[in-house]
Amino acid sequence: MEIRDIPEPVPGPGQVKVRVAEAGICGSDLHIYDDDIAIAVRPPVVPGHEFSGIVTETGEGVTEFKPGDRVVSEAVYDYCGKCRYCREGFYNLCISKKSLGYWYNGAFAEYTLIKEENLHHLPDDIDFLTGAMLEPLACCTHAVYDCCHIEAGDLVLVSGPGAIGLMAAQLAKAEGARVIVSGTDADTERLRLAEELGCDYTVNVQREDLKTLAEQLTEGYGVDVVLECSGSEAAVRTGMELVKKRGWYCQIGLTGKPVTFDIETICYREIHFSGSMASRYLNWEKGIRLIQQGLVKLAPLASYHLRLEEWEEAFRMFREKKGLKLFLTAEGAP
Ligand SMILES: [Zn+2]
Ligand SMILES: [Zn+2]
Repeated sequence: MEIRDIPEPVPGPGQVKVRVAEAGICGSDLHIYDDDIAIAVRPPVVPGHEFSGIVTETGEGVTEFKPGDRVVSEAVYDYCGKCRYCREGFYNLCISKKSLGYWYNGAFAEYTLIKEENLHHLPDDIDFLTGAMLEPLACCTHAVYDCCHIEAGDLVLVSGPGAIGLMAAQLAKAEGARVIVSGTDADTERLRLAEELGCDYTVNVQREDLKTLAEQLTEGYGVDVVLECSGSEAAVRTGMELVKKRGWYCQIGLTGKPVTFDIETICYREIHFSGSMASRYLNWEKGIRLIQQGLVKLAPLASYHLRLEEWEEAFRMFREKKGLKLFLTAEGAP
């Protein structure tokens, strides 16, 4: 990866040119850098798919957006609209999906081009910084509302208090659940933030006994829902062990490698086991409403701002788990 000067993009039919305001670094940007991601990448490509900005120009046929509009964009760029997944609304699983920042130039730049249908209006009461975190929030609303089942009174275990974990935990709280957030020594600050954000219990699994707590809180039955956001093998096994019979387990974190757990437990205990992948249109609208209602707070997750030229330093800090969300800003950004 390197900084390069490339021509300023010109919007074609159906495209919208956006001046990037805030652009967050995602774990998958590191995977692109390391060249170990299972999503199609077409280099040379500008990475960055979590951002907010202002429309500066629109191509022929664009009707829903005009220059000056504040916007956020989905990470998906191309989906076919014809495969079975697209036709049932699950374009996040389209057989020929191509993504922004992977296949098409993304947001670690001054300008980027977006297809009109992938944009959402960013309401005036949501600032650009919060707006730039709507993409990961939409992934979480997809996981919580489309891929598993949480209701008031449930006990939910969220393992992994990174940005995704702390968003998922807030969604579970918004649904009226009690929430345990678990992490390790490296997550001390993050667990503290989880408490500040209203999570009921935080557990450092290297120092405290998560299993005993889960049993005490459920008369030994186990937690109703596990949202596994760490991608760590140990957390996967613990989650499978602690979820109650007929409970829900959703794998949100990527493990980066195959992991081992006893799959028979899914039979014996009739566990609903699911994964979640990216997001769909209404997951974004839901995220926007939850922010406006004050049920989800994203600003506390924004840790550092660096200039685009400092991307190497930012990637290094992110890899070393400094803070939660790091942002890269181009010179003169709105
Ligand atoms: Zn991402
Ligand atoms: Zn499709």
